[in-house]
Amino acid sequence: MKSRKFALGFCASLAWLLCACLAGRAQQSSLYPVVQGKNYKFQKIAGGIYYATAEFNGTAFPFGSNPFFGANLVVVVNDNDVLIVDTGTSPAAARAFVADIKLLTDKPVRTVVNTHWHYDHTDGNSIFGPEVQIIAHEYVRQAIEKFDILHNEPFRSSTRNAPQAMIDRFTKQIAVEKDPGRKAALEKKLADTEAATKEFVRDIKEIKPTPPNVTYTDKLVLHRGGREIDLLFLGRGHTGGDTVVFLPKEHIVCTGDLMESRIAFMGSAYFDEWLKTLDALKRLDFTVDLPGHGAPFTNKGLITAFQSYLSDVLAQVAKLRAQGISADEAASQVDLTAHAKDFPDIEGVGAEVRGIRRVYAWMDERRK
Ligand SMILES: [Zn+2]
Repeated sequence: MKSRKFALGFCASLAWLLCACLAGRAQQSSLYPVVQGKNYKFQKIAGGIYYATAEFNGTAFPFGSNPFFGANLVVVVNDNDVLIVDTGTSPAAARAFVADIKLLTDKPVRTVVNTHWHYDHTDGNSIFGPEVQIIAHEYVRQAIEKFDILHNEPFRSSTRNAPQAMIDRFTKQIAVEKDPGRKAALEKKLADTEAATKEFVRDIKEIKPTPPNVTYTDKLVLHRGGREIDLLFLGRGHTGGDTVVFLPKEHIVCTGDLMESRIAFMGSAYFDEWLKTLDALKRLDFTVDLPGHGAPFTNKGLITAFQSYLSDVLAQVAKLRAQGISADEAASQVDLTAHAKDFPDIEGVGAEVRGIRRVYAWMDERRK
């Protein structure tokens, strides 16, 4: 099998993450009207505002977080044009997204917002010409220009290991499944994952990291026809430059990975600032949060629950670190299962290793 060559250094932490995701809660049926595209399912959140999750050949990857298409995206249809939030994992994924947007409107995409620099939110940027404004916090431009993002995390492990880890996971599940119906469903998922992996391996070769062509530092207000769209930097957190897209009239926020409805990747985080930035997020007057991964949510209590999770991570890791335990070992020992009631993707002891390594590095930085 061609995709086997991607079994590069299978990483236990990634397996943990994928197991947590793949075995997680069942896909919930949407509360919102749905427009089904070829690759994206659009949930209509309000007039002209759609939340897009990707599917491959009808297979919805768990938590809307498949590695092939990347993050969940948002479409804002204005009087004369379209604004999108984030662009996915590859130019091909972004082209598929733009093609599916034509089911919603024939107005052109004129504005792109990148919520942060990670590959699953920006690697589709290159399909847009100079007539399209790609807007992000100034940190995103610096990161894409300086971080050599195709050779570093989170791109490196996620794109090398994630597809094979998914294939291995389904293969093991099929081997032990006795129920014919469930076995057949798993076999379809495996076949779709293998097919998606082939496309993914091809598609990521086309990536040209493309920084935003418009940047801001604290706040940028866009007026598009009758719509106001506020781009807000509320402080560092998940990365050094996360944008919250706030639609004040519609009371909707798009929070990228600063706040997801599942546990966010922590490998680029500024932890104490993240807690404060989430306080600032809660003070915004919104009723629906459209996150970069997971599902739309309306309960601000989930943000408090995530703050509690982050605080617990820091407290536990500080203790383990003080005992001279390595970051990788700490990642296998931290017990965050008390938070599974709010984040069902937590299914056992341990945490994603890149996040815990980042906690260690961040604690080192603070001691200097
Ligand atoms: Zn993401």
